[in-house]
Amino acid sequence: MRILIAEDQLLERRILETGLRKSGHDVESFADGESAWERFQEVPARLVITDWVMPRMNGVDLIQRIRAADSERHTYTILLTSRGDKDDVVDGLASGADDYLTKPFDHRELAARVEIGKRMIQLEDSLLATQEHLERLATYDSLTGLLNRQSVLERAGVELRRAWRTGGRMGLVMVDVDRFKDVNDRHGHAQGDSVLKAVAACLALHTRPYDLVGRWGGEEFLIALPGADVEEARQIAERIRVGVAELRLTTPTGEAIPVRVSAGVAATPAEDVADLQQLLLDADHALLSAKRGGRDRIHIAGQAAVLARTGARA
Ligand code: GH3
Ligand code: MG
Ligand code: MG
Ligand code: MG
Repeated sequence: MRILIAEDQLLERRILETGLRKSGHDVESFADGESAWERFQEVPARLVITDWVMPRMNGVDLIQRIRAADSERHTYTILLTSRGDKDDVVDGLASGADDYLTKPFDHRELAARVEIGKRMIQLEDSLLATQEHLERLATYDSLTGLLNRQSVLERAGVELRRAWRTGGRMGLVMVDVDRFKDVNDRHGHAQGDSVLKAVAACLALHTRPYDLVGRWGGEEFLIALPGADVEEARQIAERIRVGVAELRLTTPTGEAIPVRVSAGVAATPAEDVADLQQLLLDADHALLSAKRGGRDRIHIAGQAAVLARTGARA
């Protein structure tokens, strides 16, 4: 583990360095708090052992700087002090030190305290890893790796509000795999899952990094396109439609699985677009219209509205 030491007494410093290196740590030491702080800013360390009384910057100030910097991960700090007074110890811990050692310290005690620090650091790391893992689970769809319904909805809402504030635009594309039930019926659910993964990869391929691509549910996907007007959204939807149609998917026995998608497109600004729910409804209507129109096609919200108003049926 990388450890920074701040100790003004040369002898004490050498003793610390030697002991910690013997335990296999990667040690850098400094003769005052200021130099240790400068180095810390360049390359933070997870564990800092600092003397209290030093020239330029004392140990308590160093610890407070480290705390205030509030780096992503906690830095475990051990304060060394020749003062044995209980009040000093309390002050030292109150300043933000995680632990303290009274000089002259015992080697085994130092090694043991460093081990405690190491365990705390490992515990924090594993908690953070778990937290990140849970966040990933809560954000992404496990089958396709796309955003899940809740996340794509929230993020699309944020983008839509931004679009309104800045007078920008946003397009929505609702994509649905055509006759997907037949894929499952004919080739099994596992094969159906591979098809969904391939379609998801195709959506990601034909969108830009800042577009939001999510699994809306089952074999349906929602794409939010910040900055896109209806024509740009239609073009992206069309690229996706063609891209999916060109996928050459086969079963393990080599049988071809033709896949097609239909999509509904809606975009701001439209006079009666009140909110994301409305825009979603428009995209959904357009999708329904594309399905009724024969599938493997893109329909635009305005067009769908006209169809609905005139009572057109496929
Ligand atoms: P349409 O062209 O009208 O959309 O027809 P469709 O068959 O695609 O639509 P329908 O809603 O009848 O069927 C969707 C199917 O998708 C039914 C469901 O079992 C299947 N499905 C939903 N989620 C999954 C999944 O995660 N994996 C697999 N393999 N199938 C799924
Ligand atoms: Mg000193
Ligand atoms: Mg479908
Ligand atoms: Mg569907």
